[in-house]
Amino acid sequence: MSNAVPTDYASARERVDALRRRLQHHAQQYHVLDAPEIPDAEYDRLYDELQALEQAHPEWVTADSPTQRVIGAVLDGLKPVRHAVAMLSIQAERDTSEASARRFDARVRKALAAAAASTPTAVSESTSASQSTSAAAAAAAAAPELASASASASPSAADAPLLAYSAELKFDGLAINLRYQHGRLVQAATRGDGETGEDVTHTISTIGDIPQRLRGAAASAAAVIEVRGEVFMRRDHFEQLNEQQRSKGGKTFVNPRNAAAGVVRQLDARIAAERPLSFFAYGLGDVQGWDPPPTHSGLLTALAAMGVPVNDERAVVLGADGLVAYHARIAARRDALPFDIDGVVYKLDSRALQLQLGFKSREPRWALAHKYPAQEQMTALNGIDIQLGRTGKLTPVAKLHPVFVGGTTVSNATLHNVFELRRKGVRVGDTVIVRRAGDVIPEVVGRVPGERPAYVPNFRMPAQCPVCGSAVLREKGGIDHRCTGGLFCATQRKQALLHFAGRRAMDIEGLGDKLVDQLVDSGLIRTLPELYTLGVAKLSALARMADKSAANLLTGLERSKQTTLGRFLYALGIRHVGETTAKDLARHFGSIDRLMDASADRLLAVRDVGPVVAQSIRAFFDQPHNREVMEQLRAAGITWPESDGSADKTDAAPRPLFGKIFVLTGTLPLLTRDEAKDLIEAAGGKVAGSVSKRTSYVVAGEEAGSKLDKARELGLPVLDEDGLRALLDAG
Ligand SMILES: [Zn+2]
Repeated sequence: MSNAVPTDYASARERVDALRRRLQHHAQQYHVLDAPEIPDAEYDRLYDELQALEQAHPEWVTADSPTQRVIGAVLDGLKPVRHAVAMLSIQAERDTSEASARRFDARVRKALAAAAASTPTAVSESTSASQSTSAAAAAAAAAPELASASASASPSAADAPLLAYSAELKFDGLAINLRYQHGRLVQAATRGDGETGEDVTHTISTIGDIPQRLRGAAASAAAVIEVRGEVFMRRDHFEQLNEQQRSKGGKTFVNPRNAAAGVVRQLDARIAAERPLSFFAYGLGDVQGWDPPPTHSGLLTALAAMGVPVNDERAVVLGADGLVAYHARIAARRDALPFDIDGVVYKLDSRALQLQLGFKSREPRWALAHKYPAQEQMTALNGIDIQLGRTGKLTPVAKLHPVFVGGTTVSNATLHNVFELRRKGVRVGDTVIVRRAGDVIPEVVGRVPGERPAYVPNFRMPAQCPVCGSAVLREKGGIDHRCTGGLFCATQRKQALLHFAGRRAMDIEGLGDKLVDQLVDSGLIRTLPELYTLGVAKLSALARMADKSAANLLTGLERSKQTTLGRFLYALGIRHVGETTAKDLARHFGSIDRLMDASADRLLAVRDVGPVVAQSIRAFFDQPHNREVMEQLRAAGITWPESDGSADKTDAAPRPLFGKIFVLTGTLPLLTRDEAKDLIEAAGGKVAGSVSKRTSYVVAGEEAGSKLDKARELGLPVLDEDGLRALLDAG
């Protein structure tokens, strides 16, 4: 993908012009329209190439070159805001190796020494002192407690005490300036071009994380405190949003940052309110009437005390080794974080030293953004395969020219469904953008505009299942294609078995991925009931099956026979029948026979069962082979306590939490999260994943996170485990 730097003068000149045009186009797509066409990594490559050419030919540098200014313009409909203090960017280091951190530390030391030598008011240190000593002395003057810590931290470098840095995550979102006057939020603005941003107070005010009022007397007394930070969308919220968009055939967002930017710059605050955003502060803008702490880390702590969200992964580290260790530690945590980061940021912790160093061409000398491998890359789409899921869903999968993305090499990525694939206009032979972040399956998020072969046929879903040859159907109005083979289809059989054996279903201990593969591939198991006909003889026929694991499986199977109707129904893997619906059905009908014979109308009488679910349940029990499976499983000895009563009687059972919505957060002293969920549901309540105005109670344990903060903000009742039990007992 990279272009060789031209060597002759004329073609280099042409290349500079071409690069500027392309970068300006892509910057417009990214910053103004929130619709990037190429991955950031590709933009960075073009930018670096332009910068290298301009360094070789300084006479070509113009004021409007993308290397010379922050790009960003005000979107039509939003009001421009002139920043009281310019919002500058931090120098980014795209070399992800530890050498970058070491070079930065060396640069800072050198610059501090130069500043100390040239400024008479700087810390008095004899001019004969070494550079590093005077820099360290300056650090000692600004932050004595840290300098003494550093001396003991590294005895081997006694002549070069270490500088203290504040190290933080680099959130992949949108920079925002929050202006508080006497503690009250009066304005929120985007960065824009650094001098002028956009007024987005209307959308920012919908973000629960951002306080409308700062806590504490100091904040109330201050005429102005501008808090700067990043607005971003958590990965799970992003996945939910895209899933919603996909299910209604709407446009999906390329990445969380893009989605967050789109929401913040949304003219309609109501749309913004439906799309959850988060915020972390990382600095200050204009300040009047408040004396901030002398260190950057102290400032972040002070902001947190005022009620502003500040990320907990921040740390104060010493010297280059400290920076390197922090970069490595966060890299290992990156996928586990609930949001995207594209690097870490180092800032000289002492604000006095920051002032001494100042700025170089609009970037602070005392800060560095040290990147991680990009989570989006370009690559060639070589083909499209079909992958079959447990429920029989057919997913188009991109076969890619292998590409290093998000820290790993990817050669397959999901294209989700045929409609999304067509809407994105992706075809074999295209250059596409691949994203891989966190535990999410890599996906193709779009195609890079460009040339393509004259004729490539549109992708079509096959009419037959690639695994079993059964007919492929699409539900009326649905977007997914499915194999109708059911247990007849080997892929669905394996996954149906795994689902059946799952912890929240029949809970068969000893039946995992590998064993299921063996059982199905060897032909031992073709239907669910055959599981219960396994004996030592059959199992010992399997290669590598130890006697002990055979015995374990047989015990597990025997134990699983005593179950509940709810678990059993869930285990069957009926489409649209999740755990909660299965429990509701069990409670409503009380017996499997009544359920199997229930008309669609009677099914609709069950709480939360709509036409689609009712149709799916009917379709399942209308298949003669599924009824047969039911009989065989019961014949194998699977039992559960049946309730005799009619639906009305079972529904009349005490349900003290009926209609109440709970959110669980943190670790409870005795109950696991699953147990708490079961208790709440058994009492008629619901458990939701996120806090909103509709939440009835938040149950919080140890290390409760932002959900608890949000609950407090909304003034919701917060319970501990005892409180929950009291509520349950009240019925
Ligand atoms: Zn099939």
